[in-house]
Amino acid sequence: MTALNAAVREIADEMASRPDRGEVADYIPELARADPGAFGIAVIGPEGIAAAGDADAPFSIQSVSKVFTLTLALGLAGDRLWNRVGREPSGNPFNSIVQLERERGVPRNPFINAGAIAVTDVILSGHQPREALGEILRFLQFIAEDETIYIDDAVAKSERRTGFRNAALANYMKSFGVLENPVDFTLGVYFHHCAIAMSCRQLAMAGRYLAHSGRNPTTGFNVVSPERARRINALMLTCGHYDGSGEFAYRVGLPGKSGVGGGILAIAPGKASIAVWSPGLDANGNSHLGRIALEMLAKRMGWSIFGAD
Ligand code: GLN
Repeated sequence: MTALNAAVREIADEMASRPDRGEVADYIPELARADPGAFGIAVIGPEGIAAAGDADAPFSIQSVSKVFTLTLALGLAGDRLWNRVGREPSGNPFNSIVQLERERGVPRNPFINAGAIAVTDVILSGHQPREALGEILRFLQFIAEDETIYIDDAVAKSERRTGFRNAALANYMKSFGVLENPVDFTLGVYFHHCAIAMSCRQLAMAGRYLAHSGRNPTTGFNVVSPERARRINALMLTCGHYDGSGEFAYRVGLPGKSGVGGGILAIAPGKASIAVWSPGLDANGNSHLGRIALEMLAKRMGWSIFGAD
C-alpha cells in the first residue's frame, strides 16, 4: 500500500468515528435528508487514485460547481469577465448582499453567490438556458471522463422555490446592469448547476486539470492554459470558503472550494486533485469534517503550498 493509500484509509476511519459532525444544511428538504454520518474521500495523486469511505456516493456539489462555471466563463469572455465580477475575498457569508450596494452591483468574487450568478449570466448570454446548462453538464462529464454525472432536478426545483435571497441578489445586480439576461433565466441555470450530483471520485477526476497546469495528465488534453489554472487556484485559495477562507488557508494550505452539500474540492498543485464529502457544516457553511480531513491529509503528505512540516 502506498503512503497516500494508507493516509486516506486512516483519515476515513477516523472521520467515521468522530462525534463532532457539524450541522447538515436544512434550507431545502433534499439537502436536509443527507446522512450526517457520511464521509467520503478520493485523491488522484501521482500513483493513481486512493479512495475510502463513501467515495462513490453522489452528493449535491452546490457551490463547488462555481469552479467549473468560472472556468467556462473565462473561456468565453477572457479577462472581460473581470468587468462583471471582482477577485477579492468578501469576508462575508456566501449569500450576503451588503457589499453589492457599495460596489455598484459588482460582486466581490466569482465564488460567493452573487459572483457565481454573474458568471452564470456570462455563460448564458447568446444561448437558451437549456443549452447553457447542457454546456456546463457536458463540460463536467468531459473533464471527469464520466457521462453518468447528472443534475438532480428535485434539488434544483426546491432551490428555485426557496431561493428568495438569490433572487434578491440577481435583481439587485440586474438593476445596476451587471446581468444581461432575464433574471429568471440566469437563476434557473444557476440553481441547476448547483444541483449537479457527483461522487468524490468524479469530483477529484474533474479537478485534475487544476492540479496539472490546466491539462488532463492522462490524456494530455489542455483544458485551460497554465496561467489560467494558476489563477483559478489563487481564487480558490483566497475566496473558496467564503469568510472561512483565511482559516482554511491557515489550517490546510491548499486552494479549495466548498459547497453546502458538504463537498470540498482541494488542489495540491503539481501533486493531486482531492475531493472530500461530509454533509455536516460549520458556521460558515463549509464541511466540518471535510476541512479536518484535508488538514490531516495535507499535513501527512507535506502538500501545503506554504511548505511541509
Ligand atoms: N445553491 C446554494 C445557494 O445558492 C449554494 C450555496 C453554497 O453551496 N454555499 O444558496
